[in-house]
Amino acid sequence: MEIIEKVKSADKMAVKLLQKSKDGYLCETVVVDYYNKNIICFSCALGCPVGCKMCYNGVYKNFIRNLNADEIVAQIKNAMAFIDPKKVTLFSAMGVGEPLLNYENVAKAFIALNTEFSGNKFAMATTLPSSKNLEEFLSMIRDVEKFKIMISLHAPTTALRYKIIPIKTAVKKLVNDSIKISKKFNRECEFNYLLFDKFNDSKEHAVKLAKLIPDEYVIKINHFNHVQGVELKPSTNYDGFISTLKQLNKKVEEYSTNGEDIGAACGQLCSNKKLD
Ligand code: SF4
Repeated sequence: MEIIEKVKSADKMAVKLLQKSKDGYLCETVVVDYYNKNIICFSCALGCPVGCKMCYNGVYKNFIRNLNADEIVAQIKNAMAFIDPKKVTLFSAMGVGEPLLNYENVAKAFIALNTEFSGNKFAMATTLPSSKNLEEFLSMIRDVEKFKIMISLHAPTTALRYKIIPIKTAVKKLVNDSIKISKKFNRECEFNYLLFDKFNDSKEHAVKLAKLIPDEYVIKINHFNHVQGVELKPSTNYDGFISTLKQLNKKVEEYSTNGEDIGAACGQLCSNKKLD
């Protein structure tokens, strides 16, 4: 992987790196200087086959191939030149690609990074296309202790989730499987929920979500950004939704992504263009 371009956001908190693979494809990586930590948000594939409706790669169905472990490690090591060395770094598989569809390479990369940069943290956002793959992935990374699973839930019912994430698993099973596996491997698990305008952001949705997630687990409310070609729009009801969850004794964290102005925020990354 070779960095061919870097773009900094206006608030200077995010840098988007365009990296070129040996076979000539562009891969995007984001480095965020996030208050008390660095976040390296890396891609694990060139494009993505899943087809989520809230993401550029899902809407344009642009899958080329998975990245191998060496490419993932090289992508992240290149990004290390842009971190603040005084802070802990979170290596997060939240860029392009579903990590569990490439879990062997992602696991190998995490193991290599944990050996070289111990003391840092690791995370993976997954739509959970397969519980079996999550279990195998976690059994591979047993020595990567500071690892967190982030389940991309984004809807409180199976039917609503299926409208934006084409995976048929019932949401109750998805939540139960994630919790069971995270307990078995003693790993943190939290549930990500992007709020979309008039889609999943009503009081009724919040009440259903509260019933689905046990009180001890964090529900992370992520701010959605406008993504080219995506019909879903950012919610205007963050405060109301969060306040309902809190009244129902839920643990809620709110996260607004950085780098919207440089196409580096949630759902905006794209890694599949071939260079001449
Ligand atoms: S949200 Fe993630 S899994 Fe879904 S299409 Fe986009 S990159 Fe793939």
